[in-house]
Amino acid sequence: MSRVEVHKFGGTSVGSAERMQQDADIISAAAKDAGICVVASAMSKVTDSLIDAAYAAVDGDRRGALQGIAALATRHTEALAILAPGGEDQVAARLSHIADELRELVGAVVLLGELTPRTRDRILACGEKMSIQLLAVALRERGLDAVALDADTFLETDDQFGEANPLGVVADRTIAAAIQPLLEAGKVPVVTGFCGIGPDGATTTLGRGGSDYTATLIAGAISAAEVTIWTDVDGVFSADPRVEPSARVVQQLNYREAAELSYYGAKVLHQRTMIPVTQQGIPVRTRNSFNPSAPGTLVDRRYTPGSHPVKAISAVHGQSMVSIEGKGMAGVPGVAARVFKCLARRQISVTMISQSSSESSITLVVPSADSAPAAAALKAEFRTDLSHGDIEEIVVSPGVGLVACVGLGMAHMPGVAGKVFSALGQARLNVLAIAQGSSELNISLAISEDQIPEAVRTLHHAFDLHRQDTGADAPDGLDIMLLGCGKIGRALISQLQAQQDHIRARFGLQARVIALADRTGYLLDPTGLSPDRLEEASTQKAAGQPLSALSGAVPTEDPAHMVEAALGYRLSRPVLVDVSDADVSPEAFLSALQRGCDVVTANKKPLAGDLAKFEKLYATAASSGRILRAEATVGAGLPVVDTLEMLLATGDTLQKAEGCLSGTLGYLMSALETGTKLSEAVRTAVDLGYTEPDPVADLSGVDVARKATILSRLADLPPMEVQLTGLVPEDWSGLPLDDLYTRLEAMDADMNDKVSAAAASGEVLRFVARVEATGIVVGPASVPKDSPLGGLQGSDNMIVFTSDRYQDRPLVVSGPGAGIDVTAMGVLGDILRIAAERT
Ligand code: ADP
Ligand code: ASP
Ligand code: MG
Repeated sequence: MSRVEVHKFGGTSVGSAERMQQDADIISAAAKDAGICVVASAMSKVTDSLIDAAYAAVDGDRRGALQGIAALATRHTEALAILAPGGEDQVAARLSHIADELRELVGAVVLLGELTPRTRDRILACGEKMSIQLLAVALRERGLDAVALDADTFLETDDQFGEANPLGVVADRTIAAAIQPLLEAGKVPVVTGFCGIGPDGATTTLGRGGSDYTATLIAGAISAAEVTIWTDVDGVFSADPRVEPSARVVQQLNYREAAELSYYGAKVLHQRTMIPVTQQGIPVRTRNSFNPSAPGTLVDRRYTPGSHPVKAISAVHGQSMVSIEGKGMAGVPGVAARVFKCLARRQISVTMISQSSSESSITLVVPSADSAPAAAALKAEFRTDLSHGDIEEIVVSPGVGLVACVGLGMAHMPGVAGKVFSALGQARLNVLAIAQGSSELNISLAISEDQIPEAVRTLHHAFDLHRQDTGADAPDGLDIMLLGCGKIGRALISQLQAQQDHIRARFGLQARVIALADRTGYLLDPTGLSPDRLEEASTQKAAGQPLSALSGAVPTEDPAHMVEAALGYRLSRPVLVDVSDADVSPEAFLSALQRGCDVVTANKKPLAGDLAKFEKLYATAASSGRILRAEATVGAGLPVVDTLEMLLATGDTLQKAEGCLSGTLGYLMSALETGTKLSEAVRTAVDLGYTEPDPVADLSGVDVARKATILSRLADLPPMEVQLTGLVPEDWSGLPLDDLYTRLEAMDADMNDKVSAAAASGEVLRFVARVEATGIVVGPASVPKDSPLGGLQGSDNMIVFTSDRYQDRPLVVSGPGAGIDVTAMGVLGDILRIAAERT
């Protein structure tokens, strides 16, 4: 058998006969492709009950202790009856033997009135000894050749009862010698987690939760291909899910990240779990035995910082702070070394240390149970320094907890510590001490214990951990959600693809379209929609088919749904780009801005509609530190909004903006001048893609009116209704094109007369928008042929800004202002402006 996997089942996963049967299904499936070694914890709560029985015994409560043992014995025999209705006599005998031994042990404790760590371990290990018997039965019932194996016959440790240390290569050899032959014989060893054998043959335990460690110790010793830790949650969460309900499963962790998290209190993995597997790079997966289809968390060698420096927050309770204070310590070498040495001699492990930069204090955090011995040891060590006054006092403050922010990405991202402090400061949580390891893998903070849950929640939110981890390693992502997949949307997709290299070279960013919506539904892939899917979507839309018909599309008419779904993931520099002409965008924009996403719009409706909504959008952008850009709403790619913003930003005041803001109408007006009929000119404009999807939006002047409104609002002019005179009535909108052309033909002669009349007085017709503090006027106007607007040709736009500073000679922006590519370019320009801001 070449491939071997180790599967460890935690307490709740072996909590009942039914659970064990489900575990047996999991193991049977895995055993099809690999040799399996199983490690099991005691049934849920059994270790706690054994501890209770042991303490009852030492308190002299024989009855209570024996009752506890009897209850455990019954729970196991009842489970056996379910697992093997036909009976497994040997197992029944073994269970009753363990129960007898337990009775004798607690009897002895009652008699002696003493519970040594050695006896305690012997008692505690019995939980696992019973559970493996049952799990092995469940496996045999599934036809597997399972053999129960007590690790206190081969997993060699030192004699630190309660927290024993495996004996490295010696243990590896004895573990392999016990397990390998069984695997080779096609058997499934079912090993007790948590316990080992000390130098004199006594049973030892590896510390609470130690079965995880047993699993990886075995995996390391037999060079297993993989370890799976089956527990009762879907994996390692971004915080303890009981404390922070919005915590998410972390898809992948580096060994060091996992080790750090478990060291700082993430109970899901025992503190030392990663040690035996790190060197060989054996992957460890944490999965939910209650939900085996969930992928779980993979811990391996990979380094995937993503764009999010912190992967998870963990917390340790029950600590005390010990401070050694004194000005005489400054500059004296060796104080910290003496502190550590004297504590290490007494086997007190320090959870955190921090030294003030003035060197006048050293703060240690130790488990509260160790605080008195630690203070006593320090007072003894520094007796002379205390008497000389070099050290003024050693102070113990109980009721402290630690919160750790863990992630390898912190090493490369400035400002993480700043974010930690500002988030905690805003929540009015007081940091007592801080330490950051030199590896920058972790920032740990000592905080008053009662504030720990709130600190965990605050930091979790500050680092966006409530959002789903995409698993994508994209610290340099520029994640684009596209609303609209019409001609402009499709042009933008291809421009983004063509500009990939430029964007990377210029901004160091990788632009990815992660979501794409039309009015029927959306496609979403938080790691980026592949070029193939984008191509498929573009082809679909070009053929007039809805996105919702594509496989994997989520049907919805509300773009806010796409924004919500996309922003449920932890994205990198998310930007919502609206290239639709939907009316419902303001809500989508708001939701995006409120949730940390920038917005670019070529869609005028959200900014030209209800004034209150316009104001709310800009106010929300400002209050949430987001960017809202709208260059392509006026003059396509021309820097019209940009120029206006520049004027305002430099303290200028706009007096008037006047111009031709419609490429379509500009094109039509020029065509009329050369004698082309209106109806003919409109046909050509539609064919060239110069018009809005509904040409009546152009001809009625409504589109220009929207642009004028946006300019007026952005220029901060008093709100005004537009006085609009269109070429055709607005209520023609929605007419089929052929009907529209017929109606236009009826207007051809009249239009021709107007053009001739203007020409007779040396003027030409232009469709002009005038924006001033006193009003907004939009409609056809006769202007001198030799004026700037009169000289304008074809679909070019022109806008003439008159301001306090540009009064005598106004500022003119002119150039191509319509067409699919230039509009997409305007949008791309806004996206890149945001990229520049966000690098
Ligand atoms: P088992 O008995 O399977 O070993 P444990 O109770 O030891 O399970 O560990 C799983 C529990 O750890 C979860 O039920 C959860 O409440 C708790 N926990 C604490 N922190 C985390 C975290 N960051 N991710 C997942 N679970 C956590
Ligand atoms: N049964 C032991 C405990 O509860 C070990 C383990 O479950 O990993 O701590
Ligand atoms: Mg555990």
